Amino acid sequence: NGGYDVMRVREDFPILSMSVHGKPLVYLDNAASAQKPAAVLDRMTQAYRSEYSNVHRGLHYLANAATEGYEGARDTVARFLNAGRSEEIVFTRGATEAINLVAQTFGRARIGPGDEIVLSILEHHANIVPWHFLRAQTGAVIKWAPVDEQGNFLLDAFEALLTERTKMVAVTQMSNVLGTVVPVKEVVQIAHARGIPVLVDGAQGSVHLDVDVRDLDCDFYVVTGHKLYGPTGIGALYGKYDLLAEMPPFLGGGEMIREVTCADVAYGTPPHRFEAGTPAIVEAIGLGAALDYIGTIGKARIRAHENALRAYAEARLRELNSVRILGAAEGKGPIVSFEIQNAHAHDVATVIDRSGIAVRAGTHCAMPLLARFGVSSTCRASFGLYNTMDEVDALVRALTKAQAFFA
Ligand code: PMP
Repeated sequence: NGGYDVMRVREDFPILSMSVHGKPLVYLDNAASAQKPAAVLDRMTQAYRSEYSNVHRGLHYLANAATEGYEGARDTVARFLNAGRSEEIVFTRGATEAINLVAQTFGRARIGPGDEIVLSILEHHANIVPWHFLRAQTGAVIKWAPVDEQGNFLLDAFEALLTERTKMVAVTQMSNVLGTVVPVKEVVQIAHARGIPVLVDGAQGSVHLDVDVRDLDCDFYVVTGHKLYGPTGIGALYGKYDLLAEMPPFLGGGEMIREVTCADVAYGTPPHRFEAGTPAIVEAIGLGAALDYIGTIGKARIRAHENALRAYAEARLRELNSVRILGAAEGKGPIVSFEIQNAHAHDVATVIDRSGIAVRAGTHCAMPLLARFGVSSTCRASFGLYNTMDEVDALVRALTKAQAFFA
């Protein structure tokens, strides 16, 4: 990867020089949450030390500094997603809250008994459970777009699910278990041809793919900061302005109103209508710093590096007799789920932790997907911009030992 200096990148992440159990940390749990560069940690410390106050309310120096930082971060998120205007970016606690927001405002207003919501079988529980809530509240029906044995999303089968009762499509851009990339632009075209709005769960996709919400033409797109090398407790909802403007509020409280009287309340305009209460000011500023950091390295270079890691990891894992990799979708992202014969995924993860290796094991909040593949849990190695080929070798060495242990 022409000039990608991964050792230089690693120096930006203080935690990566740690040892665990006397071994160098090999952090391969990036799809669950990524580590933070010093640029993010320092920016947040600086905000607390010299730019901190509540936002929007005050007329004093620090209130203005904090508001500028917070609103500046909104501009950065808008640029990152190529939104047309910053008012289309609503800060939330994460992807989960963003999807709940859409289901409970847009969904509640538009979806009734017998109406259909189409999800894919690839979804994370964050893009399932909010629709189950809505189903239970309204009497709507959920339908599931399938994947093939490799985990490829099936566009034709998806299209065949749409009817005149379909009121919402919500799909992930990248599976957090299989790494499958869903052709969301085509999904949007097919749905829009029937007047159906589309929410895209970008929690994983935004980390690894170029995102242009105007090119995708999706109605909603959600991201979560902690997977983007930013802090926890912050994420964002992109929504087309006209849709946000017609949506009722989500939570009630300060900041989201135009006027409150003893008799009634008039709501503010987007995005503030959806940001009740004191927001995660410093976390938003940290997210902005994380997106700037990604920008300085360059998503295309990061992607080339991560794809090389994934390809190498899959090739090396295939050398191990007892390992079975789940999913081989075309153009998949840097996420590798696998099983080891005769061993529970939790036990495998616990054993290789002794070698300093951090992977995720379990259902990855995607139980319907695991059921589709007839497995109850997997181990998952997921790569980020700071992982190395040596770390893949360390994973394979540890699994080789584990395999002997479980044989
Ligand atoms: N969607 C996908 C595809 C995810 O991988 C995750 C996080 N694992 C989420 C949604 C939820 O993100 P958060 O927990 O940060 O809200």
